[in-house]
Amino acid sequence: MQSKRVAVVGSGPAGLMAAWVLSRAGIETHLFEKNRGPARKLLIAGSSGLNLTNALPPNEFVEQYHGEGIDWKKLFETFSPPMLLDFAHSLGQSTYRGTSGRYFVRDMKASNLLRAWLQALKEGGVAFHYGMELANFNEEKDSVRLSFKDGTVFETGFLLLALGGASSLKEEDPPHWQKIFHLKKIPLSPFAPENCGFNVSWKKEFVAEVVRAPLKNVLFSSHKGAQKGDILITDYGVEGTPIYSKGATGECFIDLKPDLTHGAILERMERVKENLSPLRRLAKAIPITPPMRALLFHYAPLDGFLTNKQIVDYLKNFPLILGTPRSLVEAISSSGGVPLTEITESFALKRAERIYAVGEMLDWSAPTGGFLIQACVSQGYLAAQSIVNCFSKKLDV
Ligand SMILES: Cc1cc2nc3c(=O)[nH]c(=O)nc-3n(C[C@H](O)[C@H](O)[C@H](O)COP(=O)(O)OP(=O)(O)OC[C@H]3O[C@@H](n4cnc5c(N)ncnc54)[C@H](O)[C@@H]3O)c2cc1C
Repeated sequence: MQSKRVAVVGSGPAGLMAAWVLSRAGIETHLFEKNRGPARKLLIAGSSGLNLTNALPPNEFVEQYHGEGIDWKKLFETFSPPMLLDFAHSLGQSTYRGTSGRYFVRDMKASNLLRAWLQALKEGGVAFHYGMELANFNEEKDSVRLSFKDGTVFETGFLLLALGGASSLKEEDPPHWQKIFHLKKIPLSPFAPENCGFNVSWKKEFVAEVVRAPLKNVLFSSHKGAQKGDILITDYGVEGTPIYSKGATGECFIDLKPDLTHGAILERMERVKENLSPLRRLAKAIPITPPMRALLFHYAPLDGFLTNKQIVDYLKNFPLILGTPRSLVEAISSSGGVPLTEITESFALKRAERIYAVGEMLDWSAPTGGFLIQACVSQGYLAAQSIVNCFSKKLDV
């Protein structure tokens, strides 16, 4: 006799959405979390303005994702960005669309959204179990047996794992849950930082002058492509959306004035009447912020800027050598984890059809911009829906 109850392990956005779908379908739902409270990373995400999703049209939206083995189009048709916004609104949270097409919760934090989400789950009958670290699971004929670190054993009809990735954890090492997969001989792809800053060996005098200053509205390019946005200069290197998206170790370039052509800048410089050095002439001709000026000043070729053309060449194509990426602990997300070849199109493990895996614990990646949370909740939604369908099929028989 199969038990009509489901264990969801992991209380991040993927697990919370799965619990919501299951509880609304009238299924006895138990949510387990190893920490003493829920959704630590969602709360961290809210500390810098919670970006829920993105307004890109569907065909461009799916292009943001790397991970062969997931039908991204179907995933976002099943639970789309507008559905996520409607869901947030149904929880009493208003959202707004930023100029970049990113959707944020109006109060920018995650705490109110999370509180309302938990309340809805509680009203739907979800049982919460905090401080419970999953240590193992075994699929049996009609059930799954879960064992927790404290010795508790729990039997359930289906298990949905939403254990998260390897970024931003307290410990430096990859997540502990990988041990369970090693025990089961399910191979994992190595974890790697995604959406992270890069080291740059800045000159001491430059860093002394410019730290935590943004280079605003620049165009960053590498062999991965080009992206406009703001780059933050830090004492160790660079951060910011264009770096997260297109950063790569080696030589990269920054166009510090992408909205003005080379010719237009030269023309404006030539109109300056005073007898000034090229750098001072440039600063007179167009607005140059202090960090841009410092970059040009400290990184001028050894013989300095001899001509106007040379300085404009530098301004429009500033060469920046990126060192290694920052560590997993600092990264916004990670790739690696459960290979997509191990899961079905409904996110069940191919080796154990009663066990599902969703969210950042799977080996896919996407840039920042609301694409991460959207993918996690859409996967939680689709997998939970598939479990609901399994129960109804069994009941029909
Ligand atoms: C600084 C920062 C800012 C971010 N900002 C944004 C943003 O604005 N927009 C966006 O889309 N994304 C953002 N992200 C990324 C986003 O937070 C993650 O992609 C998302 O939280 C992943 O959801 P998840 O449910 O897969 O995993 P998680 O949120 O990591 O949740 C996994 C849960 O599983 C629990 N767990 C793990 N192992 C066990 C175990 N053995 N037993 C029981 N429980 C376990 C963990 O404690 C955790 O609570 C940000 C991330 C960071 C670090």
